Amino acid sequence: MAVTTESLKEYAHSVGLDLFGVANIERFENAPKRMHPASIMPRAKSVIVVGKRILRGGWRGIEEGTYWPTYTYFNYSGLLNSFFIPWGSYHLACYLEDHGWEAAPYYPGVPEAQPTREPLRQGEAAPSVHLAIRIAATAAGLGEMGWSKVFLTKRFGPRQRLHAVITDAELEPTPLVKPGTICDRCMQCVRGCPGAIPHIREGKTVKIRIEDYTYEWADVDLGKCTLMYHGGDPRTSPFLHKDFPGWKFDVTEQEVSEEAAYKFAWTLSTAQWRATDEFPSGYVVEGHAMIRRWGAGGSYGVEGSRGCMRSCFNHLEKTGRIEARFHNGEFIKRPRWLLDSKTATRQEA
Ligand code: SF4
Repeated sequence: MAVTTESLKEYAHSVGLDLFGVANIERFENAPKRMHPASIMPRAKSVIVVGKRILRGGWRGIEEGTYWPTYTYFNYSGLLNSFFIPWGSYHLACYLEDHGWEAAPYYPGVPEAQPTREPLRQGEAAPSVHLAIRIAATAAGLGEMGWSKVFLTKRFGPRQRLHAVITDAELEPTPLVKPGTICDRCMQCVRGCPGAIPHIREGKTVKIRIEDYTYEWADVDLGKCTLMYHGGDPRTSPFLHKDFPGWKFDVTEQEVSEEAAYKFAWTLSTAQWRATDEFPSGYVVEGHAMIRRWGAGGSYGVEGSRGCMRSCFNHLEKTGRIEARFHNGEFIKRPRWLLDSKTATRQEA
């Protein structure tokens, strides 16, 4: 039986994947070599992008301010990114190879973590190629980039994670989603974000062109985003308030690169320190270290995408711009919590 886009889609759904789309290699004509799928597989003809939903309930405990592990364990790097999706994409790759087509599953890791060296072959990319998974998903017709830089689909809005399979099989590409189909520039992501999206550098956006469409989104401050998301922001971490009494740290005033933010937030959140009477756990921030364990070797989330995910899907569901519907109405059910950037002193605690 010949492999077709339809037969692959059916197979992808049978192995638990929610989203499936195909980009032909021509749609990457504007991609730089270091981000081009053909730098990984020179004879690539198609890039399949697959995804699986992030459960809406995965954020419930964080939204209510009561429970953190579900998000990191099931819906982020714990199982969703490290098991549920790769299990499906690996089997999809096996299916292709059973039919005689080479297939390279792609895990969308953090590019900064890869080595950057000189190219091993003259004129080729260095061994630090990184496929921009959200752009690949746009090229595969799965959806569009939201103003927040988060990828949106018609089915789940921002609630999915994505992986890819690069193959030399020539497949019928999925039609592109017209820009503006999902994101209506409502700016709920900006209002809900504690500091990265509101600090978009003045008027600065990112634009890409694929076939006849131009996709544009905000140039998000990834330094602030990373500081918040990985636990560097006292406003979104009750755990900092417990372990750093009297500390003041305003993320909105920091001007740091994404990499510097990772260095700071990860060290703060994962490092150990001697156990003392004052801090008996032996961790720099005990709550973050525990959440990190739920990441099962991968990453972890403390801030939990307050604006770019939670505010966004709340809006898209409410306005009927996406297909997801829930019997209990809006996700955000009451005024939202946000702590002070100065933690309480020991005496006040
Ligand atoms: S909240 Fe979502 S739909 Fe609204 S502007 Fe932001 S990304 Fe677009």
